[in-house]
Amino acid sequence: MTLLQISEPGRAPAASARRIAVGIDLGTTNSLVACVRDGFPATIPDEQGRHLLPSVVRYAAAGAPVVGDDALAAAHEDPLNTIASVKRLMGRGLEDVRRLGRSLPYEFSPDAPGMPRIRTVAGERSPVEVSAEILKILKQRAGRALGADISDAVITVPAYFDDAQRQATKDAARLAGLNVLRLLNEPTAAALAYGLDKNPEGVYAVYDLGGGTFDISILRLNRGVFEVMATAGDSALGGDDMDHAIAEWIMRRAGISDDADHRQLRRLLRDARAAKEALTAAERVDLMIERPGQAPWQGELTRRQLHDLVDPLIEKTLAPCRRALRDAGIGPADVHGVVLVGGATRMPRVRAKAAAFFARAPLADIDPDQVVALGAALQADMLVGNRRDDDMLLLDVIPLSLGIEVMGGLVEKIIPRNTTIPTARAQDFTTFKDGQTALAIHVLQGERELVSDCRSLARFELRGIPPMAAGAARVRVGFQVDADGLLSVAARELATGAESHIAVKPSYGLTDGEIERMLRDSMAHAGADEQTRRLRGAQVEADRLVAAVTSALAADGAALLDAGERAAIAARLEELGRARNGADARAVKRAAEALEQATREFAARRMDAGIRRALAGHRPEEFGPDAPKGSGG
Ligand code: ADP
Ligand code: MG
Repeated sequence: MTLLQISEPGRAPAASARRIAVGIDLGTTNSLVACVRDGFPATIPDEQGRHLLPSVVRYAAAGAPVVGDDALAAAHEDPLNTIASVKRLMGRGLEDVRRLGRSLPYEFSPDAPGMPRIRTVAGERSPVEVSAEILKILKQRAGRALGADISDAVITVPAYFDDAQRQATKDAARLAGLNVLRLLNEPTAAALAYGLDKNPEGVYAVYDLGGGTFDISILRLNRGVFEVMATAGDSALGGDDMDHAIAEWIMRRAGISDDADHRQLRRLLRDARAAKEALTAAERVDLMIERPGQAPWQGELTRRQLHDLVDPLIEKTLAPCRRALRDAGIGPADVHGVVLVGGATRMPRVRAKAAAFFARAPLADIDPDQVVALGAALQADMLVGNRRDDDMLLLDVIPLSLGIEVMGGLVEKIIPRNTTIPTARAQDFTTFKDGQTALAIHVLQGERELVSDCRSLARFELRGIPPMAAGAARVRVGFQVDADGLLSVAARELATGAESHIAVKPSYGLTDGEIERMLRDSMAHAGADEQTRRLRGAQVEADRLVAAVTSALAADGAALLDAGERAAIAARLEELGRARNGADARAVKRAAEALEQATREFAARRMDAGIRRALAGHRPEEFGPDAPKGSGG
């Protein structure tokens, strides 16, 4: 049955029932905007017919900043006011940015807490504000081309972006006057552009080598449902890194010293990039490099030489490829198709290496610069309801496990990494101490077992737990990750319904490199972590036992035990204390068992005494929870 639409009284029906929403690829190097018209997605050019908007913003002392090709052209003249590759700074703290090192030619304000601020002639600017300038231009471009004010957009982000980076992207959109329908992983968008969702089923790899990042995603299609099985990547791999390698080669050949100024470095990088791109079609290119105070250097770069320079970088893409396959639990032969994304995959050498790794010719019919924006446009069109027949569901994954801190400084994972999102999971926890009325919830991200090796995302408290014996309260902690990868955590005490929650918006993000490192560390340390986990677990158990026996001794020791019995228990207590401070989990367990054995008779007498007291008119529950062993927390 079709429902008829009725407009609100006093309001004319909309001229067209069709809403227009755009897809935006907000790239490190280049950005694009696309939309679906007459059922087909297409990128939208500017008035000069250019589709790619270089993601470069040049600030001036007065007036609006210049964005795009003109800013890029001026970059080498005015490096400090011309911001390129700002995506690398999105959602990161000043410390993270400092670690990116000298590769960034801008000046940062030293005293701004949290978000880095770039010093320009127009004043200090945050990465979010710089990105918003790029988005504003794309919004204007779309509005002009479509003859309407465009505000709804799907914006793509690398699969690797964490909460902070995704949030920063949303903030930039809001500043630019855009309503984000959804953030979409770039590789997922590329798969959509190829219409892979139209196939009955299959496993696909999306290989995205752009200017500043490398992403590999393994997607599984099952009855029209898209699932990202695994993602991996590396932020130090991209066309920019190739440009640096070529520029360094030129500097050595041309005798240009390392301490060349900003301007000269920018010029060199521009020349290196032009040479690299020319070699995609040509076998060799002539170089003419300006040198300060000297005649220009003339030389030649051949494809062979280029390969020597870039092969190590291309090879570096294969380690994340292997890891993504391993995480997905498949081998290269299980992949039914490989999609190439990103300008750098135009290079024949990159295509050849990707083809060799997956042992098949990659899909490369759609312009690798445009493919992400086209997929985003298809998704935007679907989200505003123009493709009703299409019940396609898109699923992404979280890059690192999420969990909470438990006793002993350990992390209990609640959502393992590479879980598809949106997702919600819950787990029950309990109190550690008798009469405990609050629980400190510490939310962590990472693969390691110890809190100190993971990244702290948030802390909050659940109060109002009724005083109960240790282990008796039941607190359900629920994690929810929405379709944009943003996390919220709620804790609820089940008996009273006391509740507390938090939305996690960390003030700064993890760098891709840090995610890589955390994953590598978790593999390298898996054995040691397991040992530490066992030791910490045994120590927590020991502490609980010591506390229980000590309080039982204080209450009934004098009445129910003779001096010899008390001395025997005291000796076992002391032994357990010593073992607990050592590093051998098994010794702690043995000592705990010995103490339990030594107190068995005492426990039995206490129970008898309790029954006698109860028979004398006391309420039995006064003695119930007093057993020397607590339940797990
Ligand atoms: P991003 O996703 O980081 O914005 P892009 O997908 O736009 O990046 O890719 C930009 C990179 O692609 C740059 O390093 C650029 O030099 C490179 N590139 C673009 N065209 C070519 C080409 N014809 N040959 C080689 N590299 C190219
Ligand atoms: Mg890209």
